[in-house]
Amino acid sequence: MSQKYHESYEFEPGSLVCDKCQVAMEPGEVMLQYMGNDFPIQMPKCPLCGQVFIPEELASGKILQVERALEDK
Ligand SMILES: [Zn+2]
Repeated sequence: MSQKYHESYEFEPGSLVCDKCQVAMEPGEVMLQYMGNDFPIQMPKCPLCGQVFIPEELASGKILQVERALEDK
């Protein structure tokens, strides 16, 4: 996986479907903003409406780690 992203979420192509559009989600760039900094991450994203799927464990865990890493600086 590219070093470009702080975080990426591996998923089986076609395993995640947008509730609204009923199309398979594709990996897409999502920009997290925290304390004035941008953090590009790669998440499953709907190619039609742009809705992003953020896995629960990521939302509650790894993003918090990013925040903590920043606060330590
Ligand atoms: Zn959609």
